[in-house]
Amino acid sequence: MSRKIIAVVPLWDDKKQSIWMLPGYMDGIEAAGAIPVILPLSDSAESALEAFELCDGLLMTGGHDVSPALYGETPKKTCGAQCEKRDSMESALYKRALECGKPVLGICRGIQLINVLQGGTLYQDLPTERESCVEHQMKPPYSSVAHYVNIVKPSPLYELLQTERLGVNSYHHQAVKRLGSGLEVMAVSEDGLVEAVRCTESSFVWAVQWHPEFNFRTDPAAGKIFEAFVKACR
Ligand code: MN
Repeated sequence: MSRKIIAVVPLWDDKKQSIWMLPGYMDGIEAAGAIPVILPLSDSAESALEAFELCDGLLMTGGHDVSPALYGETPKKTCGAQCEKRDSMESALYKRALECGKPVLGICRGIQLINVLQGGTLYQDLPTERESCVEHQMKPPYSSVAHYVNIVKPSPLYELLQTERLGVNSYHHQAVKRLGSGLEVMAVSEDGLVEAVRCTESSFVWAVQWHPEFNFRTDPAAGKIFEAFVKACR
């Protein structure tokens, strides 16, 4: 049986004016039994959408902050750099994935963009907008536990991991503020932030705020998330 193909939009390096990718995203998909393929990052989503026809699922990775314009706000001084191309490319691909019923896994920026595309809003900068003693922007090594999340029971994430408490890594300064419509929360941090969601209108659209791509080799829970995603791609 041939392996499933997972579409990945490349990361963008402003300084080098270059596309790039963190190996963990690619390796995590491959370890789960599928083949990751990087799509073009162009001005129009046409090429990416056409190439996506050959793919079975979509991985939405971390990276730039989502443009606040997408949720009707102007960027605050504390908002990080944005990437217009990724915003438009991934928005188009996400919509197409929903239309075709292709599974989607969102990671970090991925959960934020999915929330926005479902009509939700984001904290533009957690440290200045929301007081907390939980460390969401950890220092390396990123494979270690930064904080714990409570997994909603019942939820498909609970079904997969069979635990109500999970130690996760964490590297984000933005987060889900108002939850988008059609989304169901699957995990919440100890300071009350949404850390995992799924789209109830789709067979498999999951997103996590933490980074399974950094610890799928050492943490079975991280590996299982990639595996569940790949398994859903049929
Ligand atoms: Mn976190």
